[in-house]
Amino acid sequence: MTRVVLASGNEGKLRELAALLAPLSLTLVPQGALGIAAVPETGTSFLANALLKARHAAQCAALPALADDSGLEVEALGGRPGVRSARFAGEGASDGDNLRRLLEELREVPPPQRQARYQCVIVLVRSALDTQPLIARGSWEGHIASAPRGRGGFGYDPVFVPLGERRSAAELDTSEKNSLSHRARALRGLVARLGSASYIAAP
Ligand code: IMP
Repeated sequence: MTRVVLASGNEGKLRELAALLAPLSLTLVPQGALGIAAVPETGTSFLANALLKARHAAQCAALPALADDSGLEVEALGGRPGVRSARFAGEGASDGDNLRRLLEELREVPPPQRQARYQCVIVLVRSALDTQPLIARGSWEGHIASAPRGRGGFGYDPVFVPLGERRSAAELDTSEKNSLSHRARALRGLVARLGSASYIAAP
């Protein structure tokens, strides 16, 4: 088993990533379990933030590190909240605060103009200074409903209705979300590239 530090403290993401990575011989160790604090996400793109988080975790843990950066892009808001999804309603905002802010900003926007997508970039670095990180991207198209529904998932899931669905992402089974989500798509890409098993040497 190769240990890989996961540069995230988000419980929802940890559950999804651990389930998606279960078939590989990688053990994910959350950075919090190693006493590693989150690094400020100062990047202006999902890729920049994912690399920042992965390099920081790899440096502190002296292990390979996996990081994702993700967020919601809403067409009617010109792509916002984007990289600011986790703090749309301000620093330290809860998922509920962010979701209410989103519904408030879209109050006057009619259903046909409420298209949105989740975006995810996942990176794997073998060390803090890795010059050839593995990078994979995934997106999940949908629209923003007018009111929250469902208790699953996290973040904006209660108002995100995937394309071709009537249910919100929070009403999908965990396994359904894990096969459709932006994170799943990005991770599948990463896993396919990892297939050349020599990228991470087993200890
Ligand atoms: P990150 O931790 O910097 O990647 O921020 C991700 C933020 O985007 C989360 O806090 C959520 O607000 C939002 N987000 C990303 N992926 C999802 C998802 O699968 N469901 C709901 N919200 C998500």
